[in-house]
Amino acid sequence: MKENLPVCHHCSKMDCIRKHGLARSGVQRYYCTSCKRTFQVRYIYLGNETNILRQVKALLDEGKSRVEISQTLGVSQGIIDRHIYLITLEEEEKVGD
Ligand SMILES: [Zn+2]
Repeated sequence: MKENLPVCHHCSKMDCIRKHGLARSGVQRYYCTSCKRTFQVRYIYLGNETNILRQVKALLDEGKSRVEISQTLGVSQGIIDRHIYLITLEEEEKVGD
């Protein structure tokens, strides 16, 4: 089974990413063999739906597409779609206020 690795944050390549140990904060670090740089993924999906919702929202605000968000956070697009749906519901509630 192929592991779901993120795209490089520097050169956006997909097939040259290797795991590179954990940062002191516990965040997974990655190494790109293409541009030979390391980067961290804001990947805190494990068990924390509130966090991922906040991150999806922040990335949407930055103008990222759902594909980019799923790659950045390292979760499937289905999960991103679900969170975008939740965000939409939240926004609608605000509008109706
Ligand atoms: Zn790279």
